Amino acid sequence: MSKTINFFNTASRAVEEFRPIRAGEVGIYSCGPTVYDRAHIGNLRAYVFVDTLYRFLKASGYAVKWVMNITDIDDKTLQRADKEGRTLKEVTEKYSALFVSDLKALNISVADIQFIKATEHFTEMRALVDSLLEKGYAYKASDGIYFDISKFKAYGQFANFAPNLATSKERIKNDNYDKENVSDFVLWKFDKRYPQGRPGWHIECSAMSARYLGQPFDIHTGGVDLIFPHHQNEIAQTKAATGKDLARYWLHNEHLLVGGEKMAKSKNNFYTLAEVKKRGFSPLALRLELLKAHYRSKLDFSWRSLEGSAILLTNLRRFYALSSLGKKDNPTSAEKERKYFQEFLGTLSNDLNVPEALAGVQKTLNEEELGVWGASFLKKVDAVLGLGIAFTTPQAVKNALKDMDHARSGGDFTYSDKIRKELLRKGYNAENTNLGSIVFPRA
Ligand code: AMP
Ligand code: ZN
Repeated sequence: MSKTINFFNTASRAVEEFRPIRAGEVGIYSCGPTVYDRAHIGNLRAYVFVDTLYRFLKASGYAVKWVMNITDIDDKTLQRADKEGRTLKEVTEKYSALFVSDLKALNISVADIQFIKATEHFTEMRALVDSLLEKGYAYKASDGIYFDISKFKAYGQFANFAPNLATSKERIKNDNYDKENVSDFVLWKFDKRYPQGRPGWHIECSAMSARYLGQPFDIHTGGVDLIFPHHQNEIAQTKAATGKDLARYWLHNEHLLVGGEKMAKSKNNFYTLAEVKKRGFSPLALRLELLKAHYRSKLDFSWRSLEGSAILLTNLRRFYALSSLGKKDNPTSAEKERKYFQEFLGTLSNDLNVPEALAGVQKTLNEEELGVWGASFLKKVDAVLGLGIAFTTPQAVKNALKDMDHARSGGDFTYSDKIRKELLRKGYNAENTNLGSIVFPRA
């Protein structure tokens, strides 16, 4: 287990030492997508952030359980199904699959995420709503069951505002609203399509996190737009019904912007991963771009900046290939590897400071004599950053490189150049260096 880890906790608005509830174990709950459409790359920033957090905690020696909900029933998904003339399940399964394939392309550890669907947890949600009714925190209206925010004294505390209860008597049946419209929010909706009713948005995260992670659990994540109303409402529901806190540490990522404005479906200023690929960028170049700013800083997206990330990533892969050809390991280089990797983890321990850790890696690569140790150092770094720096080369590509070398040493430069171009076409840069020939995938 590594040294002290600190995170900025939205709940206290301060940097706090991270102490897991159970020694050596961490539970993470991430608010997942509403699957009514394709995710945009702003949404994907939220998940690249958590994946890097997850990988960092694992590299620091923790056993991490990571749970993510899929909102597969709400106003938006139902409307989309109506619009497409399909069943809710058809629509949500289609967009869930697209979402998971985006995550995979970004090297997000999907195999380690436990995805849980709202539609499969009505029982848990209903039990929580019933307990709120019993305790007097909820009441029935003609169109649903509402949470009475005036009964929950700490309402607003998490989101850092005091609700004006005089003007909050209205009920709000939309799941999304802002502080100007604060009011009793819907827990359960009466809906002709569902004889027993169906959940509002917020209740799923309270009910499902309790089932899979217990209460409280360690880390809850989401974008800053979820602080209010979503997370404030999750906290109120759980505390009112169980007397317990929902989570210990609340980590929120800032937004991805375009031209200074939040990237959002509603503003129609968004890009999807499909568009990033269509423009010739690899998803991992986007992952690096999204990691370039600290997760609590806003990040303005531009194609130009993405281009810079692609070049940087290709260059990191070049270093990896070069160091594999370098001097063999010796005790001093093993010591170097240990030292630099500890430094890397140390920087990340400071509220997951990825930009600074990345700068440290670049400095090491520029200043140190690279040997095989550099390759194993980059392998460990890559296990945390997930950028495909420590790539594996397919046998066919290795063979092509050998043929290229062979042609060159035989003086057949036309043929060696033909192979080089062929490799380029397949996405590989081939280069002849004084240590030997290397080949590495372009980002
Ligand atoms: P949604 O599917 O709208 O619930 O959003 C999924 C996740 O993406 C949530 O954690 C949001 O806070 C996050 N999110 C939405 N827009 C952005 C953005 N422009 N930048 C970063 N995160 C975002
Ligand atoms: Zn949630």
